[in-house]
Order: sequence, then structure tokens, then C-alpha cells
Amino acid sequence: MTNETTPRPVPRLVHSSLDLIGKTPMLELSRFDTGPCRLFAKLESQNPGGSIKDRVALSMIAAAERDGRLKPGGTIVEATAGNTGLGLAQVGLPKGYRLILVVPDKMSREKVQHLRAIGAEVRTTRSDVGKGHPEYYQDMAERIAAETGGFYVNQFGNPANPEAHETTTAPEIYEQLEGKVDAIVVGVGSGGTLSGIGRYFKRVSPTTEMVLADPKGSILAPLIQTGETIEPGSWAVEGIGEDFVPPNADLSLVSRAFTITDAQSITAARELLAREGILAGSSSGTLLAAALRYCREQTVPKNVVTLVCDSGNKYLSKVFDDVWVAEQGLTDRVRHGNLRDLVA
Ligand code: PMP
Repeated sequence: MTNETTPRPVPRLVHSSLDLIGKTPMLELSRFDTGPCRLFAKLESQNPGGSIKDRVALSMIAAAERDGRLKPGGTIVEATAGNTGLGLAQVGLPKGYRLILVVPDKMSREKVQHLRAIGAEVRTTRSDVGKGHPEYYQDMAERIAAETGGFYVNQFGNPANPEAHETTTAPEIYEQLEGKVDAIVVGVGSGGTLSGIGRYFKRVSPTTEMVLADPKGSILAPLIQTGETIEPGSWAVEGIGEDFVPPNADLSLVSRAFTITDAQSITAARELLAREGILAGSSSGTLLAAALRYCREQTVPKNVVTLVCDSGNKYLSKVFDDVWVAEQGLTDRVRHGNLRDLVA
């Protein structure tokens, strides 16, 4: 018995969860109004650590092992919204490394619980301070790495981060769409996804547009749109949006940028679950909202790809919880079945 409409091969037996990283499925989102376009979502939530970050954890640890920054029994230290930490735990802990993660306190409880369950040491710090403040998560991670003699991964500047996307995520997208990719909608946390995918497509398919989906309050979309650096605000979406331009984020690759509110991101994530049966996290909601806007603006048919960066099971107490949405003052703007806000 099968409910499948499209036959597909049964995945092969593997002998390590590392072999399950990447080669994620691509799903056409056929239950949304996408104007003249076809919209596809690459399900990075299906990586074993539950997010797109497994790929970069694998490549950043491998690079550090190769060049001797990471030795057997060594300590890995990182500043992370959670998913990079989960990826590092997924890859690093079975190899016997110690893992210390500095996580801003706005991140969901489920992520921190998952990190502790897998065996990482989690230090939470303030979300409301910026770069240069001693309690800023990146400054804290760098300090802990110096104190412990650990390897500071620094996903924001580590070249093995975009490389993972250039050598795996991007060629997979190209192959899954048989090279017919007109636009790719991404978010920027570290910038690894943008720069890696962007570099690959610039080389093999230079007409493919890179489109940025950015939470309202982040400095990135306004910087691309106006060249001005705004005073950063705050936003509830996790993993994307920045108060600085990470060295790994090559914004020159972006041809369009959309600013998406928390209400739009949450509505889109809820709609993705209701319509397509895909439980995705808040940043995927941001990407989907921007992708829908981009699709509906087009006058000719295009193939548009976006990413489900992580699973929504980490956000059941937030994005998918009406009480939390009410606490954010967003109840009026997050309505099941109401997509008007997405195209406003
Ligand atoms: N979505 C989620 C849920 C993330 O955790 C991250 C990484 N922080 C991103 C998107 C952005 O990816 P990148 O770091 O490659 O810009």
C-alpha cells in the first residue's frame, strides 16, 4: 500500500547518521497562490540534526580537523541560534569532542533542551545586546574559546560554511530542478546559505536571481534596498536577520530583498503546515512569505526555490501556540487561512 503519487527510490542503508546529511528532498508547493510561478521547497528539516546547519557543521569540523585547529579530544566553541549547535553536536560529539555553545536567550526552549539532551554544554546569554558588548553571544563564545583553548567555529566568518552550500546544497537544487532555476529565496543568519548557493549559481546559471527574505528589524534588507544602515530592531523569528553584515554574507549576490514581519512569517509557517503538511520553523515562514510575494509579482512563469531551514517541532511552544502569539501582540495579524497580510 502506498499513498505516493510519484514513485521514488527507497533510500539506501547507511552506517552513520553523518551519511544522512544532505541530499534532502525537494517538494513543489502546489497549494498556494503562486501567480505565474512554480514554487519549490527544499526540505532541509530532514537532515538528522533537523536543520540546514548539519551540512555546515560537517564541513567546518572537517576543515578544522584537516588544518589542525581541532585535535582529538579537543573543545569546539560556537555562538549559535541553536541549529548550528545541533549540527555541531550531531557531527562533533560522536567523535569525542567537547562542545560549548553560547545561545541568546530568545531562542526556543526546545532547541536548548535538544542541545542539552545530545550532550552539549549550553551557556545562555542576553539577546538584547549588540556586538562589542561582553554578553553578546559571539563575543562571549570567542572569549570562552580563548579561555579553554578551544576551536572557535565562527560560522559568520568561516569559509567552510559557504563552501558546504556551494558544494552540496546548490548542486542538489540544480539537479533537482534540472537546471531550470530562475530564483532562489534565502535568509541570512551567517550568510553561508546565501553566499554558497549564490556563488554556485553565478557560475553555472548566472541568470538565476538570489532573493533575500529578511525579518523586519534586521539591517540587511534596508541596506540592500537603500544603501543605508538602519538602527537594528528586534524580531521573533529565529536564525535569520542581523544587526551587522557577517563576513560570510556576500550581499552583492542579492538582486531583490523583502522585509517580512513576524506576523507574516508566523502566518506563512502555519499555512505551510495546514496546506502542505510541512511543519517548518519560523525562518522558513519568512522565506515562504517572501517567496510568495516574489512569485505573485512576476509576469512570466518562473521556477522559484526556497528552503525549509528547520522543523517546526522546535517552535510548537511559539509560532504554533496561540497563547505565545497573543503574548507577542500578534493575534489580530496571525489568522489561520488569512494570507492577505503576506502580499500587503
Ligand atoms: N534558518 C534557520 C532556522 C537558521 O538557524 C539559520 C542559521 N542561523 C538560517 C536560516 C540562516 O542560514 P545562514 O546561517 O546560512 O545564513
